Amino acid sequence: MRFPAFAAITALIVSGCTAEDLPSQERVIAPVLTSEQAMDEFTYARPLEARVTHVALDLDLDFEGARVEGTATLDVQSAEDATEIVLDSDGLIIGGITDGNGNDLDYTIGESDPDKGEPITVQLGEMTGPELQQIVISYASGPEAEALQWLSPEQTAGGEHPFVFSQGQAILNRSWIPTQDSPGIRQTWEARITAPDPLTVVMSGISRGDPEMLDEVEGESTRRAFEFVMDNSIPPYLIAIAAGNLEFAELGPRSGVWAEPAQIEAAAEELSDTEAMIDAAEGLYGSYRWGRYDMIVLPPAFPYGGMENPVMTFLTPTFIAGDRSNTGLIAHELAHSWSGNLVTYASWRDGWLNEGVTSYLTARISEEVFGETRVMQERALEYAGVMEALESLGEDNPRTALRTPDELNPLEYSSAIVYDKGALFLHTMESIIGREQFDDFMRGWFDRHAFQPATSEMFLADLREYVIQDDSELEESLMLDEWIYGTGLPENAAQPDPEAFAAVDGAVEAYGTDGTMPATDTWAGWSAFEQRRFLEELPDELSDEQLAALNETLGLSETGNNEVLFLWLEAALRNEYDPAVPQAEEFLGRVGRNKFVEPLFEALWGTGAWGEPIATRIYDETRGGYHSYTRSQVDPIVGFAGGE
Ligand SMILES: [Zn+2]
Repeated sequence: MRFPAFAAITALIVSGCTAEDLPSQERVIAPVLTSEQAMDEFTYARPLEARVTHVALDLDLDFEGARVEGTATLDVQSAEDATEIVLDSDGLIIGGITDGNGNDLDYTIGESDPDKGEPITVQLGEMTGPELQQIVISYASGPEAEALQWLSPEQTAGGEHPFVFSQGQAILNRSWIPTQDSPGIRQTWEARITAPDPLTVVMSGISRGDPEMLDEVEGESTRRAFEFVMDNSIPPYLIAIAAGNLEFAELGPRSGVWAEPAQIEAAAEELSDTEAMIDAAEGLYGSYRWGRYDMIVLPPAFPYGGMENPVMTFLTPTFIAGDRSNTGLIAHELAHSWSGNLVTYASWRDGWLNEGVTSYLTARISEEVFGETRVMQERALEYAGVMEALESLGEDNPRTALRTPDELNPLEYSSAIVYDKGALFLHTMESIIGREQFDDFMRGWFDRHAFQPATSEMFLADLREYVIQDDSELEESLMLDEWIYGTGLPENAAQPDPEAFAAVDGAVEAYGTDGTMPATDTWAGWSAFEQRRFLEELPDELSDEQLAALNETLGLSETGNNEVLFLWLEAALRNEYDPAVPQAEEFLGRVGRNKFVEPLFEALWGTGAWGEPIATRIYDETRGGYHSYTRSQVDPIVGFAGGE
C-alpha cells in the first residue's frame, strides 16, 4: 500500500466538549502496523486504505427492547486512492449512513460469518485523503447483540431495577458499535448515553460531569443523559458501558468504586488497598496515564473475573471474600493499565503480550503491597497450572506456543499458556537479566510504545536492542525464540520456590498416605492460596465418606471465599457426591463467571449417567442468566443444540 501507514499524524479536533474541568488534550492518531505479524484476520477492515480514528456515540439505552439505539459518528482518514471504508458489524440494524453534512452515502452489508459477523462497506465518494472526514451511522443493536447483557431486576442484588453491562473483548463490540473492531486500529471516543431515571450510566472513559435531566416525554419515564470522553487512543474492544442502580464510594484521591447499594460497603472494604497498588505499579513501570482509576462491581452474571476497561475496571462480585484474599484480581486489572491498554497486541495471536505480561506485573505489584510469601505462593500455583496444561495438551502441541500459530484459532486460547506460561517467560528473563535491568527495560517498553499496538517481534527486537545488544552468551541463555514460537517449556524456565507450600504439601501427603486431615485450626490459619493448593492437590477420586469428613472438618461448604467454594464443589461433583448438588445448583444459578461455571458443568457431565441429567436440569434453569461468552463455553460441554 503506498499510503505512508498513517505515521503519527496529530489532529486537533473540535469535539464540542465544553466541560470546564477537562484539560484540552490533543488527540494523537496511533499508527496502524504493517508487518505480517500485526495482521488481524478477525476484522473486515482494510485500515491501510481507510480507517476510523474517532468514534462519537449518541445512544439511548432501551431496557424494554433490550437494545441500544442512536447514532455513531466516525472520524475517517483514508488513502488518496481509496473509494470506500469497511466497518465491522455483528447483527447491527442500520437505518442509514450519511456524511457529516447529512448527505446520504451508499453502503452495502455483506454476508454474515458465524465468527466475524458481517462487513459494512461505505462509499466515500469525494471524501478521501488524509483530511479527517465524518460519516454518521443511524443504527440499533440487534436482538442477539453478544457484547451486551441485559439483566432483569431479579438478576441484580437490589431486585428493583434492571441492569446492563457490556463485554467487548475479544470481538464482541461490533454487536453494539459500528466501527473497525480490531485491536491494532486504535481510536479515541466520546459518548452521550441516555437511560431512565434513576439508573446511572458508567463507561470506560472520563465522565464529563453530572448527568443532564431530560424533558419528560408523555408515556415514558424520565431520562437522564450522561457524557464521557476518552482522548487516549485505545483498541476498540476497550469501549465499555454499564448502567444500573449504582452508588459510588471513594477509595482514594484518584480511585473509587461503583456498585449496587446492597454491595457498596463490602466492595469498598475489599478494595481498600487500591491506592497502594497504583503507587506500587507507578514505582515499577512509570506514571499511571489515564487520570482516574475507578471500578464497578457488577451483578454475579458477569462472565469474567475482571475486565480491564480503562478508568473503569469491571469486576465480578465473586472476588469479595471479606478478607481481601482475592484482590490479586485488582492488581491484575490495574496492571493492564500498562500491559494491554497502554501497549496492546496488534493481533489476537500475541495474547501473551497482554495477559502474560500482565500476570507478571501482577506478581510484582502484589509483592510490593502484600509481601513475598503471597507472591511465592501465587507463582507456585501458576507454575503448577502450566505443568498441568502441558501434560494434558502434550509438550509438542502447537497450542502450547506463546504466539498462537497460524493454523490455530487464537480466540480459543489456553489461559494456562497465555497467562501463566507468558508470566513464566518474564520471570525467567528477570532471573537471567537481573531485576533492576529488566525493570528498566519494561518501563522503556511501555514508554516507547505507549498508546500503540505491538507484536512479539517488536518485543524481541526491543529486547535485543536495549538489553542483549551483542552479548551472544546472554542471547543464548535467554532462549527467546523457543519461548515465543516453540512448544512445551524451555529448559531455562525459572522454577518456583519449593518452600512456597511446604506446610500444605506436607498435609496433602499425609492425607494421601493415611487419610490424616489438617486440624480445623490449621486449616483456618492457612491463607486462601494455601487452602486452594490443598484442594487442588487432593486425589482425583474421593469417596462419599471422605468428602463428608473433609467438609465436616474444614467447613468447606461454609467458606466465604468463592475460589475455595468452587474447588470444593468441583471435587464433590466429580465424585458424584449427592449432598453437594443443591449448593452447586444454587451457586450455578447465582454466578455466571465462566471460570467457575464451565468446570462445574464439565465435572457433572464427566461422570456420565450420574451427572448428565443433573447438568441438563440445572443448565435449563440457569442458561438464560449467563452471558453469551459463558453460554458459548458450556453449550458444547452439555451438548446444548439450539433453542435460540
Ligand atoms: Zn487480564
